[in-house]
Amino acid sequence: MRTASPSRVGDARWRGALAVLEEMRREPGVTRAVVAQRLGLSSGSATEITARLRELALLSEAPAAASGRGRPTTVLGPHPEGPLVIAVDLRQEDWRCAVAALDGRPEIVEAGVHAGRGPEQVIGPIAQAVRRVHTRHGRRVRAVGVAVAATVQHGRVVQAATLGWDAVDLGALASDARLPLLIGNDATLAGVAEAREGAAAGAATALHVMIEVGVGGTLVVDGRPVSGATGAGGEFGHLPLGEPGLRCPCGATGCWDLAVDGRAIARHLGEPPPDDPRTYALAAIARTSADAATAAAVGRTAGSFGGGLAGLINALDPDVVTLGGLAQPLRAAATPEFEAALTGGLMRFRRADPPRVVAAVLGQDGALHGAALTALDHVLTEAGMNAWTAALRP
Ligand SMILES: [Zn+2]
Repeated sequence: MRTASPSRVGDARWRGALAVLEEMRREPGVTRAVVAQRLGLSSGSATEITARLRELALLSEAPAAASGRGRPTTVLGPHPEGPLVIAVDLRQEDWRCAVAALDGRPEIVEAGVHAGRGPEQVIGPIAQAVRRVHTRHGRRVRAVGVAVAATVQHGRVVQAATLGWDAVDLGALASDARLPLLIGNDATLAGVAEAREGAAAGAATALHVMIEVGVGGTLVVDGRPVSGATGAGGEFGHLPLGEPGLRCPCGATGCWDLAVDGRAIARHLGEPPPDDPRTYALAAIARTSADAATAAAVGRTAGSFGGGLAGLINALDPDVVTLGGLAQPLRAAATPEFEAALTGGLMRFRRADPPRVVAAVLGQDGALHGAALTALDHVLTEAGMNAWTAALRP
């Protein structure tokens, strides 16, 4: 049997093999016959490719349940000894560490609440968790993907307003620098996950918008985030769609961030800025039916969100918009205000056929899924596969 060697990664046959792996990633449990049909492969080629992928410990095959008169086929899944990635979700208050195989389904193995606010207090325990997971799975672990509630530029955290950090080095999360480290903004990674396996699956151009403290998101085209020259794009919250002159912690004025979250609701109610804008917003949303002043403040905030979202739609022209974090509860709590501002802000030609605006489905796990997907993308690059085939040799 011909076997793949590192020198052949990158050739046309290897690209066929990657396409089969992508089908398995998109739909674990898909049959070989269905993959062959989708990719226009003969049954013989499909059989040859899957055999090669099994040999490289990238794919497993199990007999599929017989169906009708078709030839027997197999069900494709990740290989039980195949590559793994570690996915980390570093949030404002806590963190989670997961492991994912090539099918990209993160399984959470460790979690914790930050012991303090300083970068060392936050990063140290997570780095220890990554090292433990790496030790447990050894060379099967190929990369670490990190979702962080921060602005990420050139793969590094440059500013994290909600954590109170400026530039911070997350290099310790690479398990003693031995693993490739892929760091991404949490909202961007959640958007990638929604576009590839969530509410926008199948859409070529998907816009994800997420409110937590402030608002962020990403445009995802063909499964990849559009993040600009340095990776710091998608900071929708710092478009000047808020109140002119109001100073944002980012350093700019008039930012949309300050008009759509718990800080906005508090301001409209004449209350001081809340310590935890997310919790404050959730509490306000919960009491809108009982309190008219709160309902008005939430309605005004939902209107600011809808109007800004219309601007993003005008500018970016997505097929579908997914709403993450507090965006969907805010819309649901003040639907008339949200819809009026959204429709009013859309250019006239769009109003007859606006993009669908739907709730994200991965919820709090979106960023973690996105971190796993991004790390797996790295594993499946030519360099990543060369490293894997080298690691397979005794
Ligand atoms: Zn700002």
